[in-house]
Amino acid sequence: MKRPTTTKVCFPSATLCPLWLKIFLLLLLTFALASTIACAKGISSADATAAAPKSESPAPPPAPSEAAAPDNAPLPHIDSKRAFQYTREVTAFGPRYMGSENHKKLERYILDHLKGDQVEDDAFTADTVEGKFPVRNIIAKFPGTKDGIIVILGHYDTNYPLRNSGYVGANDGGSSTAILLEYANQLRGGGAGKKRDGYSIWLVWTDGEEAVKTWSDTDSLYGSRHLAEKWEKDGTLKKIKALMVLDMIGDADLDIIRATNGAPWLLDLIYTAAERGGYQSHFYALQGPIEDDHVPFVKRGVPSADVIDLDYGYNNVFHHTPQDTVDKLSPKSLEIVGDTILETIHLLDQR
Ligand SMILES: [Zn+2]
Repeated sequence: MKRPTTTKVCFPSATLCPLWLKIFLLLLLTFALASTIACAKGISSADATAAAPKSESPAPPPAPSEAAAPDNAPLPHIDSKRAFQYTREVTAFGPRYMGSENHKKLERYILDHLKGDQVEDDAFTADTVEGKFPVRNIIAKFPGTKDGIIVILGHYDTNYPLRNSGYVGANDGGSSTAILLEYANQLRGGGAGKKRDGYSIWLVWTDGEEAVKTWSDTDSLYGSRHLAEKWEKDGTLKKIKALMVLDMIGDADLDIIRATNGAPWLLDLIYTAAERGGYQSHFYALQGPIEDDHVPFVKRGVPSADVIDLDYGYNNVFHHTPQDTVDKLSPKSLEIVGDTILETIHLLDQR
């Protein structure tokens, strides 16, 4: 069981902690210290009191929704070995921060993978405290027979402030890129021009998720903020039935947090899907609000969920450090999340 060693864990070195707020909120909620430490935004005492220490009294499993009643469809499976191989290949590019040569190589790698698919760019220049950076969200669209879109996002950039530290982001950036590449394999099964039986699925490799200096509302989520604004203007947001962000999903010791700043029904549906695969022990022992690529969409009323494991090593010690390497990850974890989200899509298609 984890305990905070200090009540000031909320202010780690700001320059290297773009997601420090995430870590802090997680710790805050886990240990129910909200009432004594008031340094974070967006947290309510109700959230804090609802949180439970991980190994003492886990959050109760949500009740299955009516729409999630079991059916006879076989449970879907990703090819986890292939997804893990993608994680290796992505990580092997090295640091992949915005504007870097490795970032360009990874863009080409993703686009090569999507040859023959319907692909769109959302490219722009971000004006940041560290100067201007090219940002490029890559979107692959897999049309469906039902009216509406399910969006799956995962970021592919690594942290600019960590560019000279040996940081390669195997879990943070690598696993999310890889799982989406594997989803593209799964979704293009019908052949060219054939629609999938269900909603359209759009896969989005988001860029600029990480802060260039210190995580804040304006220094973070560059790609997703831009995309949410664009999709609000062109009417796309209204068509989105569900949006799910996958981030840091490769940890061999997998603990997906219930990110409470998402749509409760969608969080519950993901849990139901996890139960159907027998994976529920990896979900929702921890809970709390998380700042990630779903936030710009949540702010605009899109039903969204962040699927993330922010318990990466003891006290999240591998997160945003050169320790975030492939040896900490496992194909099984990619399979657990990969299959669960595929099953969630299946359940959404039935609604
Ligand atoms: Zn990160």
